[in-house]
Amino acid sequence: MRRFLCALLILLMLLPFSSCTREEPQTDTVFLMDTLITITLYAPREVATPIFAECRALLCELDALWSRTKEESDVSAFLRAESGVTLDPRTAALLQTALDVSARTDGAFDVTVAPLVELWKACEEAGHLPESSELQEALSLTDWSRLQLTGTRLEKDDPRVRIDLGGIGKGAAISILLSYLESTDAAGGMVSFGSNVAVFGQKTNGETFRVAVRNPVEGKGGYAAILSMRTGEVLSVSGDYERFYTIDGERYHHILDPKTGYPSESGLCSVAVVCADGALADALSTALFVMGEEKALAFYETGVYTFEAIFVSSDGSVRMTEGLTERLSQ
Ligand code: AMP
Ligand code: MG
Repeated sequence: MRRFLCALLILLMLLPFSSCTREEPQTDTVFLMDTLITITLYAPREVATPIFAECRALLCELDALWSRTKEESDVSAFLRAESGVTLDPRTAALLQTALDVSARTDGAFDVTVAPLVELWKACEEAGHLPESSELQEALSLTDWSRLQLTGTRLEKDDPRVRIDLGGIGKGAAISILLSYLESTDAAGGMVSFGSNVAVFGQKTNGETFRVAVRNPVEGKGGYAAILSMRTGEVLSVSGDYERFYTIDGERYHHILDPKTGYPSESGLCSVAVVCADGALADALSTALFVMGEEKALAFYETGVYTFEAIFVSSDGSVRMTEGLTERLSQ
């Protein structure tokens, strides 16, 4: 009898674990928008599988709208247009945020940066730095105030003006994905979208979601901070170590200063922004990187947007906005 009770006790102790195993997180990975996207869901497999399929369909739709290379995308249609196009409402919402951030950051973020991005790409292929005349032409077209958004109608004042969503699209996509995921039966989960990460709901084991923000400077311990993430939040990172143009053996990073046309040299090597809106988090991380730490902190103090940020300087030192300190994990 005693043996039987013992066995029963052991069985009872194991039960919660076996139900946990059934709810092990499920993962799906897909390469879209030039990025490896991983979705982790706390849900039984039979619940997660159709959700993953829906996420893939959503991501394909967004890729088809925002791709630089797909002919039917809103971005390509705007490139071909003489004066303007009618956008999908999701593109219009993204543009609204882009233009708002451009205006408030004095153009540190500029969605019309496409001619500069293309120039640097062409220079990489040709193996030389941009000529000053080429830079001047691309700079003259990099000016968000040449765009006019009215509802879903986007107009430009010069046919050569074009848009690049590289600094905002992934963040916008992650928020769209999150709104869908929040409506599903999954208890919670995490989406990792290149240098954008978002969480929703809860882990089934009650733990909080934690994310490590990298310190790219060698010898600085590998990470700048470990943050506990709140549901619905997006963390976006812009770093000078992420993408490059290689010209004559030199690396030129991909975050361009719309004032000079050159990769931004603001003394920062990485900026992470945490914000409830993905498009805003993404656009702000790019903008704050270009602004540099002092200007960015002054901008934070104005309270024009609700966000928190971590700044990693080129020497590896780390500073963060005050709202983040209480949220650091060990
Ligand atoms: P992120 O990694 O989010 O900072 O975005 C960088 C990408 O945004 C680049 O690869 C370009 O496609 C684009 N970009 C570069 N500089 C800027 C800028 N100053 N404003 C807006 N987009 C930019
Ligand atoms: Mg960005």
